Amino acid sequence: MSAKLIDGKAVAEKVMSEVARGVERLKKEKKIIPGLAAVLVGDNEASKIYVRNKRIACEKVGIYSTQELLPGTASEEELLGLIDNLNKDPMIHGILVQLPLPSSMTNGNPSGMNVQKILSEVAPEKDVDGFHPINLGKLFSGMPDMVPCTPAGIIKLLESINFDFNGKEAVIVGRSNIVGKPIALLLMQRHATVTICHSQTKNLSEKVKRGDLVVAALGKPALIQEDWIKPGAVVIDVGMNRLPNGKLVGDVDPKAASKASFITPVPGGVGPMTIAMLLSNTLEAARRQSS
Ligand code: NDP
Repeated sequence: MSAKLIDGKAVAEKVMSEVARGVERLKKEKKIIPGLAAVLVGDNEASKIYVRNKRIACEKVGIYSTQELLPGTASEEELLGLIDNLNKDPMIHGILVQLPLPSSMTNGNPSGMNVQKILSEVAPEKDVDGFHPINLGKLFSGMPDMVPCTPAGIIKLLESINFDFNGKEAVIVGRSNIVGKPIALLLMQRHATVTICHSQTKNLSEKVKRGDLVVAALGKPALIQEDWIKPGAVVIDVGMNRLPNGKLVGDVDPKAASKASFITPVPGGVGPMTIAMLLSNTLEAARRQSS
């Protein structure tokens, strides 16, 4: 068997066309241009590229975007002050704080208390990344509102292949707040039976072998092996790992395509969907703030 590729670029373009039409309608009917502010602290090269790609995507669909740059030496107070100003800015309907924040601001813990405190300062209605505790709480209680972009994009990809979630064994590798945990909740809501694995999981290969659906979000190049994949499984590779030679690779060995029925490529799978869902969330935020 050789897996069919799930074309994230094509699905993302479809979402972006829908967003572009929605933006046009909002401009026409309410005279409102959706606005997105990206906050970038320090000069993490990868983050700069992500923020630039988000700006280009905004331009494509007619969303107004700004980049708010703070030096790596900025204090937490300066960042909170900037977020407060953006919360009050009527031109801005969506705010994203590009992660990771510099370690000076996070006490070296990229998902620790300090980061949660900063993300909690974004007004929930402008939280287009879906990381605010209120939005995460809504997702947890089965009332998804602003859903984190990568998990929302994964669901769209699965819908694009008419994946039947009901009763399927879904194995997620990674338990981060931005991918692993929210995708687990979204899959559970669709009646999949979910296993979440992490760095302390024993016999990882045995767990992965159970999956009708495998979502790999661990950030370790090609760690998920071909012979861990159940024949016919659907494999979503979230990983984006830059090798020393500059090549971008996922968390799944590409040879896994010989076992899977469908697999996402890296690049060109989940990545484009994350940006498309960010635009979709920004449009939705603007619609709500205008009604
Ligand atoms: P994090 O580093 O926050 O989380 C990684 C998770 O993987 C943790 O839960 C960790 O376990 C687990 N893990 C690490 N090593 C292993 C291992 N050997 N076996 C099992 N589990 C392991 O990463 P993110 O969730 O932010 O991102 C994951 C990957 O997805 C990265 O490559 C990132 O670049 C990519 N990504 C891609 C996006 C896209 O748009 N395509 C968007 C977001 C992320 P523990 O909790 O025990 O430490």
